[in-house]
Amino acid sequence: MPPMATLPEASIRPAAARPRPASGLSRRALLAGTAAATLAAGLPRGARAAAPLQVVATTSMIADLARRVGGDRVEVAALMGPGVDPHAYRQTRTDIVRLTRADLVLANGLYLEAQMEEFLDELAARRPVVELAEVSIPEDLRLGAEVYENRWDPHVWMDPALWSRLIPSLQATLSDLDPEGAETYAAGAEEATRTLARLDAYSREALASIPPERRVLVTAHDAFRYFGRAYGFEVMGIQGISTESEAGLARIEELVGVLAARSIPAVFVESSVPERNVRALIEGAQARGHDARVGAELFSDAMGQPGTYEGTYPGMIDHNVTAIARALGGAAPERGMDGRLSAGL
Ligand SMILES: [Zn+2]
Repeated sequence: MPPMATLPEASIRPAAARPRPASGLSRRALLAGTAAATLAAGLPRGARAAAPLQVVATTSMIADLARRVGGDRVEVAALMGPGVDPHAYRQTRTDIVRLTRADLVLANGLYLEAQMEEFLDELAARRPVVELAEVSIPEDLRLGAEVYENRWDPHVWMDPALWSRLIPSLQATLSDLDPEGAETYAAGAEEATRTLARLDAYSREALASIPPERRVLVTAHDAFRYFGRAYGFEVMGIQGISTESEAGLARIEELVGVLAARSIPAVFVESSVPERNVRALIEGAQARGHDARVGAELFSDAMGQPGTYEGTYPGMIDHNVTAIARALGGAAPERGMDGRLSAGL
């Protein structure tokens, strides 16, 4: 009997975590014929490749992580900017050109990019496409979607500790595509892990300072359920409620009851929520002798403006955590974890 073949290390990783290479071509082969490849081929082993890996990410949160782990060996573009709703986003003509030319396409998965799903599936036959949250978060750590059966809640970035589980798959993907950069990616992964752990520790401390009965988050849509699970919050959504329907009025009445009974001082909105629903909530609470106000706008499915602190993943989470902690009676510094928030909360 012949000895059993030893599996190469790469094949041990879950199949889905491996990028699907375009027609079996390596990155070097894909670059063949370009000046960059010619130059790189002449360099000694381990030398810096001339051209950075072109990475296109769907959301800004995924792009942020790719920049942290990839360092200067990658050039990362995000398709969805500030205020863009990833559930409804559909690729533009410009996006299609960028995506089909990318060395690597990174998506969240878990059905977040619902309108791009089909396109990404087709693209995966030609380019390496990795749905990073989907391949990194095991099923027992996922929350089911509230509205759709047999689907998962995709908002995993709301829990920094959970989000850091994407780092090893990202590091492996980048190292597979660009083995010469393995050291850079290992260092980037380590630094990113540290940054996210520190963010999680700050969040835990700031949010634990809120009186327990007030740890209720009334928000615009259902993006905060992982946040709620991580930090012990009850999360109540007001999305889809219409003050013109009986069911809507009943739900608002229910929420008013919770606000008043538990002395919850703030409700959080995103710009997408009809203001009259929020007004109905606040007025209903006042009618019961309870003053509630509208807290700072939270970042849910996109980060802030590029080039600002809030336009980074730590800035986005710091803003949310600091705003929530301060509005609900907890103790958190006005300008957040490192004093970097642009406006005092
Ligand atoms: Zn969402």
